[in-house]
Amino acid sequence: MKKHNFYAGPSILPEFTKQKAAEAILDFAGTGLSVMEVSHRSKEFIAVMEQARQLIKELLEVPDGYTVLFLQGGASLQFLMAPMNLLETKAAYLNTGAWASKAIKEAKNFVGPVIEVASSKDQNFNYIPKGFVVPHDVDFFHYTSNNTIYGTEILKDPDVTVPLVCDMSSDILSRPVDVSKYNLIYAGAQKNLGPSGATVVIVKNDALGKVTRPLPTMLDYRTHIDNGSMFNTPATLPVFGCLQTLLWLKELGGITAIEKINKSKAEMLYSEIERNRMFVATVPDHQDRSRMNVNFVMSPDFAELEKPFLEFAKSRGLIGLGGHRSVGGFRASLYNALPVESVQALIDAMREFEKQN
Ligand SMILES: *Cc1c(COP(=O)(O)O)cnc(C)c1O
Repeated sequence: MKKHNFYAGPSILPEFTKQKAAEAILDFAGTGLSVMEVSHRSKEFIAVMEQARQLIKELLEVPDGYTVLFLQGGASLQFLMAPMNLLETKAAYLNTGAWASKAIKEAKNFVGPVIEVASSKDQNFNYIPKGFVVPHDVDFFHYTSNNTIYGTEILKDPDVTVPLVCDMSSDILSRPVDVSKYNLIYAGAQKNLGPSGATVVIVKNDALGKVTRPLPTMLDYRTHIDNGSMFNTPATLPVFGCLQTLLWLKELGGITAIEKINKSKAEMLYSEIERNRMFVATVPDHQDRSRMNVNFVMSPDFAELEKPFLEFAKSRGLIGLGGHRSVGGFRASLYNALPVESVQALIDAMREFEKQN
């Protein structure tokens, strides 16, 4: 049976990425060796790293003066690297969920007050705070563009007077971003780009070197910039996987094309949730709803049918629909690589389940 992968992360990858990885695991770039067993200093692998960095620049229209890196340690390590490298006086953070809260906790390890400008914790993070004020004298404003767990998303670059820093782990490359407004963008690869093990960092070069604290070598972005993202051994297989997804995305028409598809997939599913008497979306305000992670629950009259629906979905090949334990219900992750047919298969299952009950 065809499987439809709705996992939140690690998550679905394009067939192209899997096929190319499978080939390169046996014979990488005609070397007769596996991509897992060649030196990261070989010309073949350096070409992979350089092309992957270049394609991110091209697809996201990254301006001159920025460097793209593939680091390790996940977005979770960026929670501390970002303030360590950029926080000198004060920083402002928006608290929109568990990941944002973790970023705030790490920033508080560093001197320079961390101001939480607003939080949506009062309603279990089911909305994006509005009307908050970001002080003019902070070093940066940090936010999480897509809240993977709660299914909210900030679809527009915030309009503030200070540089932005953003955790884009779960919506990077899903829509256009004005990179020139950012000092730093980071994202774990495993949501929208490739296998886990690589972290994409896009950093503005001249935002660095301004903090007075000593920086350990590995935690200083300049170390990685100066060494072509190869100061130490990079995650070679994950970076290879990311490159394949980037090639796939370019071939498909890039960010403009994928954004159109992402919009239409999300609209299809939210419309069905609205129409179907058995389900309710957990994010009430339409403008706050994520295109990447669609969260919904059984409507109160059918609460006892949550497990049965998950079982029913699974029997039809719909995998990974269980909501995060802090929200419950269902979460359908509609990342770039998820085909429209999978969204349609979920909608068909919801309609069939409604008929049967
Ligand atoms: C998954 C996720 C993280 C954590 O990423 P790791 O790579 O596991 O550290 C952080 N932020 C967001 C928004 C995420 O979706």
